[in-house]
Amino acid sequence: MPEIKLYSQNLASNLDILAKKAFGKERLIAVLKDNAYGHGLSIFAPKVASLGIIHAITRDAKEALGIEKFFCNVIVLSECKEAFFKHSKIIFAANEIEALKSAPNGTRIALKIDTGMHRNGIKANELELACSIISEKKLLLHSIFTHFRSADEISGDFFWQRKNFDEVKTRYADISKRYSLPKVYFHSCNSAALLRCGKFDEDFARIGIAMYGYCDLPEVFGKFRLKPVLELFAKRVSTTKLKKGQCVGYGGTFVSNQNMISSLYDAGYADGILRYDGKGELKTTNKSLILGRISMDSMSVNSSEEEISVFNDATIWAKYFNTISYDILVKLNARIPREFV
Ligand SMILES: *Cc1c(COP(=O)(O)O)cnc(C)c1O
Repeated sequence: MPEIKLYSQNLASNLDILAKKAFGKERLIAVLKDNAYGHGLSIFAPKVASLGIIHAITRDAKEALGIEKFFCNVIVLSECKEAFFKHSKIIFAANEIEALKSAPNGTRIALKIDTGMHRNGIKANELELACSIISEKKLLLHSIFTHFRSADEISGDFFWQRKNFDEVKTRYADISKRYSLPKVYFHSCNSAALLRCGKFDEDFARIGIAMYGYCDLPEVFGKFRLKPVLELFAKRVSTTKLKKGQCVGYGGTFVSNQNMISSLYDAGYADGILRYDGKGELKTTNKSLILGRISMDSMSVNSSEEEISVFNDATIWAKYFNTISYDILVKLNARIPREFV
């Protein structure tokens, strides 16, 4: 079984960088959806709370229920389960007008606005309707939020969406008076948006990938010295000597051009590591070549060490697979043991 080590110091340092940008740790909402981006929700949540984070986000109510004791509030992004309404720390994202209509009276709500991503959220011109339902049903509106479609790209979209959200804020100020609704919090920034936004001026930022140590922003936005929190290790199962010309693994895609050592390590695609097809030159952290295709439970590597670090920088694997660091991290199987060091 492979192993995951999580580095407290790196997490603390990432949080400091982000808190500085957001003017306070209390303004950071830790995005812990999908098993904390593969880092392990049950171990990550108490750690991030111990480092001063008081708000969290999960994808579903079950995840939220497991961690609410560590936080002041947990926002659930995409599920509204009646069984959980009595939990006062849990706030449900309302992603459409229907959600407001079906929520029981008194439910805590974070209202999602579509400012241009067109994935979900109510339209700006539905805000008055939303407020009337909220007022009538005495829903407890915690915050109004939106999400950027291209915060990590060089384009004007970010500014256009920000302007749309500013208009929503102004409109809420007016409507809330008429419906006697309270002042609410506003949040729009994910990691990339927070890091690029100039002077941060909202109540919260929802930080995911940057907390875990990654940010794929183009360099024009600056360098942020984030450090990956996760490192994946595998243990040696056996070692063999390859003769020049012998090939390794399924399909024999790797052919040795010299006599060399090959060891089998106990990490494979069943553990959620993407299935490397043995083409190209994918290497482990200390630059040992992975030999041929990755198998279900194992991989061959030109190394004889008892334990290898498969990766401590998911961007290398993301680049090979033409994907993003999120995709590499979030797939890591939940049954892999994880520990903070
Ligand atoms: C996942 C998610 C985030 C976090 O995004 P990062 O790019 O990982 O910081 C923020 N807000 C919403 C609505 C999300 O779904």
